[in-house]
Amino acid sequence: MLIAAVAAVVSVSHSLTAFNLLNRRWPPGAIDLEIQLGPARGLTDGSASWDDCAVAAAKDWNAVAGPTGVSLHPILDSTRTPGAPDMVNSVFFAEDLFGIPFDRNVLAVTQTWVFTGTDDGIDESAESDVIFNAAQRFQCIDGPLTTLGSTPEVGGIDLHRVAGHEFGHVFGLDHPDDIGVIALMDTFIGDVRVPQADDIQGLLTLYGAPVGPGIPFPQRNQVLAFFLTLENEYRNGLMRQQNNPGFVDAEGSAVWFPEWLRYVLNGCSATEATNRVFLQIRGQGIQPVCGVIAAGTIDFPPRNLSLDFFVLLDALYRNELGRGALQSFIDLEGKAVWLQEYLRYRVNGCSDADAVAWVIGQIRGGHRPPCM
Ligand SMILES: [Zn+2]
Repeated sequence: MLIAAVAAVVSVSHSLTAFNLLNRRWPPGAIDLEIQLGPARGLTDGSASWDDCAVAAAKDWNAVAGPTGVSLHPILDSTRTPGAPDMVNSVFFAEDLFGIPFDRNVLAVTQTWVFTGTDDGIDESAESDVIFNAAQRFQCIDGPLTTLGSTPEVGGIDLHRVAGHEFGHVFGLDHPDDIGVIALMDTFIGDVRVPQADDIQGLLTLYGAPVGPGIPFPQRNQVLAFFLTLENEYRNGLMRQQNNPGFVDAEGSAVWFPEWLRYVLNGCSATEATNRVFLQIRGQGIQPVCGVIAAGTIDFPPRNLSLDFFVLLDALYRNELGRGALQSFIDLEGKAVWLQEYLRYRVNGCSDADAVAWVIGQIRGGHRPPCM
């Protein structure tokens, strides 16, 4: 269903950064923008026209949007009359918002139409129109806000930063909640002219960033099956007692440890990886990875860091999720060591069957075979 996105703000509390997301996004690819702002003369930053000034702001975003799979694609010289909804993204000056008057202090508005009912619960953007308030006096001027309008010659609001802000709304970013965050998406115009770290983090979060190249993670059901095999081995092979209290069930271990490892293998510190997994557990979606590792280098973390993660995960299951204690045949250290060992084989190209066999072989005192 195509509906007009209401102005209501979806507030998402976030422990890492301050950005806010609008619960909508574009499918992967270029986002066409028909820019119809028209000619201008004497723009202080050297832009040849209003269109040029807005295109520069689109380029600012494209320079940082690489990992997201979406980009802004300005189209100039269109003579189409903007409409809503007409499934065309138009950027233009107007006296009002398709008949609705601008509030007096508003510089520009982004109005978006979305398809609801997507599989992942995040609406799919169908059309975003960016409408500049023609009653405002604009310029294109690079410099701190305090200099804007200081002389009649250069007076006016920098359209570049307004366009950059509105294009952030086009992507699906909202205003950050926190006062004091330096962001292009701040509600009020300021000195910021290009996307800042907080803006970029929001964009990467909304669209996700790819897992590093060449790191195929095994399917969750395989990790879970391995985990249950491990329990059997501890019970029947090692003759362990079912007396290791823990709060994370087998599914939780099979899902969240690989997720933690995925972050670590993609440039996150152990602490940062833990933070991001916990955001996921708290329902805030898959978080961006911290970097892209070079192909061929797969550095697994020291085992004590893996164990630390299991200890913290256990505490979160107990304190935040309110899970009851379960008795396991495997202690936390055994989970950390052997789950990591299984994943190490898998990430290095071993089949599920080989990886299981070789981990069990190691538990029984065998040597680690060269699988890779
Ligand atoms: Zn805004």
